[in-house]
Amino acid sequence: MKKHNFNAGPSILPREVIEKTAQAILDFNGSGLSLMEISHRAKDFQPVVDEAVALFKELLDIPDGYSVLFLGGGASLEFCMVPYNFLEKKAAYLNTGAWAKKAMKEAKAFGETVEVASSEKDTYTYIPKGFEANVPADADYFHITTNNTIYGTELHADPTVPVPMVADMSSDIFSRPVDVSKYICIYGGAQKNLAPAGVTFVIVKNDALGKVSRHIPTMLNYQTHVDKGSMFNTPPVVPIYAALQTLRWLKAQGGVEEMQRRAKMRSDMLYGEIDRNRLFRGTVTDPEDRSYMNICFVMADEYKELEADFLKFATDRGMVGVKGHRSVGGFRASCYNALPAESVQALIDCMKEFEKAH
Ligand SMILES: *Cc1c(COP(=O)(O)O)cnc(C)c1O
Repeated sequence: MKKHNFNAGPSILPREVIEKTAQAILDFNGSGLSLMEISHRAKDFQPVVDEAVALFKELLDIPDGYSVLFLGGGASLEFCMVPYNFLEKKAAYLNTGAWAKKAMKEAKAFGETVEVASSEKDTYTYIPKGFEANVPADADYFHITTNNTIYGTELHADPTVPVPMVADMSSDIFSRPVDVSKYICIYGGAQKNLAPAGVTFVIVKNDALGKVSRHIPTMLNYQTHVDKGSMFNTPPVVPIYAALQTLRWLKAQGGVEEMQRRAKMRSDMLYGEIDRNRLFRGTVTDPEDRSYMNICFVMADEYKELEADFLKFATDRGMVGVKGHRSVGGFRASCYNALPAESVQALIDCMKEFEKAH
């Protein structure tokens, strides 16, 4: 049976990315050696990093003066690296979900941390409105989580605030154009939209570094990795290679504008069915906040007892990963860049069939 991969992360990658990476694991560039058994300093590997950096810059239209880094540690390590490197006196955070809150918690250890707005009391079912006006003009940066993977809300455009921004874009990178000039740092774990787990991407504005007075441990200092082109220590070679394949795929498909068009089409299809089908309802309260990447829904109140039945029904028909996050329940269909519209249609067909049976 064909599987439809709605996993939230690690998640679906383009088939050709997996095939090309598998091939390089068997024989890298005809060298007779596996990608897993060569030095990251091998002359054939440097071009992989260079091309990945160049494609990052091209696809996101990154202005001059920024570096692109490939590091270890996941987005979760960036939660502390960001304040370590940028928080001198005060930082501002938007609390839109569990990841946003974890990022904010780390900052508190480094200086004054202002929660500009929060939707926590309403289980993060929307993005707070008008938060831009509350961002303190003397903050060193304003941190946002552009897509809230667990709750299915998303900021579909880059906010305008009086201070430079930092963003966790783990789960929506390369799904829309970004005005990188508004940010001093954009980071994310690669395992949602880019690569297998193990590599973290960081876009950092070079002249925003070196402004804090504290000592930063070598490995946690972005400057170390900028100076060494992500080669200060051994970077995650295999995930970087896979990321390069995804970046090439993205470019060949038409880049971020095309990814945005597809994401909107997929999500219009699925939200359309959620709104139409009497058995289900969406969990995000403000329609403009609905994520294109993680589509969250539950059984309508009268049909609550059917939740486990639908999960089994969908699983039996090849749907993978549609169970909602344990903190929210219900269902979550993650529709990342590589997910074909036919998978969304297959899920919709399931929902329609289940409705007929009840
Ligand atoms: C998955 C996720 C994280 C955590 O990433 P790790 O690489 O596992 O640390 C952080 N932020 C967001 C928005 C995520 O989706």
